[in-house]
Amino acid sequence: MRRFGLTRTFALVSLLAMVVLGVALVWASSSLLRDQGIKAGSRSAETYVRLALEEDDALKKAVATGTSVPEDTAIHLREQLGLGSDRPPLATGNGGSLIGVRVWDPDSNPIFDSTPGQGSDDGAAVGFSDGARLDLALAGETAADVILDVSTAQGEQRSVSRSVLDVYVPVFLGANQPVGVASVTLDYSDTEAAVAEAIRLLALVIVAGLGLLWLLLFRTVWRTSKTLRYQAAETARLALLDPLTGLPNRRLLNERLERAAAASARDGDAVGLVLLDVDRFKEVNDTLGHPRGDKLLIEVAARLREVVRDADTVARLGGDEFAVLLPAMASVADAEVLAQRVYSVFSTPFNLDGLLLHVETSVGLAVLPDHADDITALLQRADVAMYTAKAAKAGVAIYSPSGDEHSPSRLVLLGDLRRALDNDGELSMHYQPKVDLRTGQVSGLEALLRWQHPLRGAIPPTDFIPLAEQTGLIKDLTARVMGMVFAQTAEWARDGQRLPVAVNLSARNLLEPDLDLVVGALLAMHELDPELLEFEITESAIIEDPVRAGGMLTKLTALGIGVAVDDFGIGSTSMSQLRSMPLRTLKIDRSFVTHLVTDPGGASLVRAIIELAHDFGLIAVAEGVEDVEVTTVLRELGCDVAQGYLWSKPVPVADLGAVLARIAAEAPPLPKPRRRRAPAAPVPSAG
Ligand code: C2E
Ligand code: CA
Ligand code: CA
Repeated sequence: MRRFGLTRTFALVSLLAMVVLGVALVWASSSLLRDQGIKAGSRSAETYVRLALEEDDALKKAVATGTSVPEDTAIHLREQLGLGSDRPPLATGNGGSLIGVRVWDPDSNPIFDSTPGQGSDDGAAVGFSDGARLDLALAGETAADVILDVSTAQGEQRSVSRSVLDVYVPVFLGANQPVGVASVTLDYSDTEAAVAEAIRLLALVIVAGLGLLWLLLFRTVWRTSKTLRYQAAETARLALLDPLTGLPNRRLLNERLERAAAASARDGDAVGLVLLDVDRFKEVNDTLGHPRGDKLLIEVAARLREVVRDADTVARLGGDEFAVLLPAMASVADAEVLAQRVYSVFSTPFNLDGLLLHVETSVGLAVLPDHADDITALLQRADVAMYTAKAAKAGVAIYSPSGDEHSPSRLVLLGDLRRALDNDGELSMHYQPKVDLRTGQVSGLEALLRWQHPLRGAIPPTDFIPLAEQTGLIKDLTARVMGMVFAQTAEWARDGQRLPVAVNLSARNLLEPDLDLVVGALLAMHELDPELLEFEITESAIIEDPVRAGGMLTKLTALGIGVAVDDFGIGSTSMSQLRSMPLRTLKIDRSFVTHLVTDPGGASLVRAIIELAHDFGLIAVAEGVEDVEVTTVLRELGCDVAQGYLWSKPVPVADLGAVLARIAAEAPPLPKPRRRRAPAAPVPSAG
């Protein structure tokens, strides 16, 4: 922009200079031409005076005596001069034809005039003598000037004007000093026309020449400026691009991050930042050679560019580290979908000169403003997430704001969980009974995951489930849980104990596009009646992405599996969202149940939730019931099912039989009839 301005300025200034130069050239050369014309005329006049006048005896005599030329001599002289007759005027060469001659003696007295009076026969009306030139001529110098001669010819109305050259020539008559002056008047119009024509031609040549010169000059400058501009742009571009892959480098990524962050602050969008590196890239480089390493990086870059949206920026940060900037994201969940897509880039092997190479990656995701306030923090958080993913071999990890996530122990834990998934024995299911409040009989079970760490002992699910959720591990973990629960439930059913079992699903499980297929395949594999299954989804999981969650829940319901909303009450699900979900059960969050009796407003809150559940045709379940008082109030409020330590903690399968037997024995023989319907689940016989 600035450079183009400079070029334009140069064009204007140089054009101006050319115009000034052109005008000066035309002016100088035209005055030169004019002088030349006058000089040539003067020379003709001088020759004429020498040849014609200085040879004339009558004139010689008149000049010598200082008396006027007698009239008869004058007539003779005029005739001799070729004036005042029909003969054409004496040709005088370069100066044009002769119009008139006047002669003065040394005292400036006119002694001869071939054109006496204005408007004479021949029309010459040069008029009065020019004192200055007369004096010059008397001093021995020829003085000439072009005069515009205006005359009105006899019988004509219009006045006629022509240019005449009036030359004052000193007359020497053999002496050293001039003895008089002769003024020779020549018709100058032809010469003047010729001079004007020459000037016109010259001006044309000058203008064309200068114009051409200017064009050449401007073209050169413009081309040079263009080349410079291109080179500058190329340099700037190269400073922002990675030479190997052609991807934006860290600097450009930072610039775009800043822009995206500003837009996010303005529009309220989220900005996702994905960081990834190629696992064991150094080994690839060392064993296969740098050219293949480079090839791998180029291929990774190309694949990454293919899977992201146009608005996203794929950058290479150096080495085997890449970044993807995801501007204008609606939510963390949306950004995660894209992060998964980035991860999927590595699912197909890379072809390095015919060598098929399987490489893995670790993908970290952090989102502004969910995980960081500014881009520096965002970069750091994404880095932490990537580190987390690498340590856990988890594929994709989302940054978790929960404190000590990047502490080594947590990373070790992730690695251990990964290993636990591959091993048998460390992970197992515990089951907690749900009791029908009307009958006091067990109406179903909730399956809860337990991890027995070989060194650390039992690790609570509240510690490791969030860790798995932040990484890709939750998918495998849930599959593992379903495998164990489905197998167990099917086994019980085969034994005649048809106990419905609830499995907890994480929010991220609902985002797996093939979850229903996995579930369907497991159902078929274990020949399990879907009626015996329920999925518990937390309210917050539904809120995170209601559309996608609703879609998956519909698919799961279509398989014949019921869905329960877990931890209901602490989120802010809207009524319309709940109504649109294919739900069967609503589980009141433990915090409300625990404080049911002690909180002043506790009972009315729980009553409202129970009524809401019934209005929607859902079964109301209270979890975390630890004492009889709460049970009594829950019964009064019309709650259908309860679950809690009052009946039993979650127990391993081995202990479940005894627990079920005890609950069946404690159940009142004749249950009080309730207003509300109870769940249709059959009551298991005590094992
Ligand atoms: P949740 O789904 O709300 O599970 C109920 C939790 O409340 C269980 O904790 C259970 O032991 C506890 N609980 C039951 N009755 C009482 C009671 O009377 N008093 C008190 N104080 N607590 C009671 P747990 O087993 O530690 O599980 C914690 C959370 O971990 C679960 O909350 C669930 O969100 C998650 N979780 C457990 N297993 C799985 C799983 O297989 N998959 C998934 N995605 N999440 C799981
Ligand atoms: Ca649950
Ligand atoms: Ca719960």
